[in-house]
Amino acid sequence: MKNEPCLDISEKFFSIQGESTHAGRPCVFIRLTGCNLRCSYCDARYTYEETGNRIAVSRLVDYTSNYPGAIVEITGGEPLLQENVYLLMDRLLSAKRTVLLETNGSMNLERVPQDVIKIVDIKCPDSGMHKKMDPANPERLSGKDEIKFVISSRPDYEWAVNFIKTRLAADPGRYEEWTKNGRILFSPAADRLKPDQLAEWILYDNLKVRLQIQVHKILWPKEARGV
Ligand code: SF4
Repeated sequence: MKNEPCLDISEKFFSIQGESTHAGRPCVFIRLTGCNLRCSYCDARYTYEETGNRIAVSRLVDYTSNYPGAIVEITGGEPLLQENVYLLMDRLLSAKRTVLLETNGSMNLERVPQDVIKIVDIKCPDSGMHKKMDPANPERLSGKDEIKFVISSRPDYEWAVNFIKTRLAADPGRYEEWTKNGRILFSPAADRLKPDQLAEWILYDNLKVRLQIQVHKILWPKEARGV
């Protein structure tokens, strides 16, 4: 339909959620094009190096309805760069879907509906993007949201531990909700840090975080897209 609100989409697919506390669950992914960051370890360059397809928001909602009961993740790139993503979130919530939003931490999260579960990156120094974070975002999260650190090295690990102590633990009630539900995620950067090394550091320090291994990369190691 003419003038229908649309989004630029890199890909949409049905797969197993590979990350977060929802890892392992069947999930509909809607990946938007464009990103305002250039992380050193980015494995989704196609989202900003290639042109996507323009798809009406109503068609995207229809697509998710092919998979009733599955969770829905909106991701990128950086999905909050496109204004109509707010309409998509509203329509999915109205359709009673469980909606996850994966966002890179550089965008103001104030307008994201409360009922959307936000999975927010805090970029560590080795990403090259840690100075691009919106510093007020941790205060905009609720206890049901999740915080993800991708860790490339020991200095990154120590930086993340310090961030937790100084920023995330500042609100004890919310911090307890994050930690008791394992919603602070430590993910080793692929080809940079071995998962068992990160596991040893977490255990040695008895950190209240969740070691996150990307399930989709174990299931389909040769696939770079659509998983
Ligand atoms: S935010 Fe994500 S998509 Fe954007 S450059 Fe970083 S890793 Fe790649």
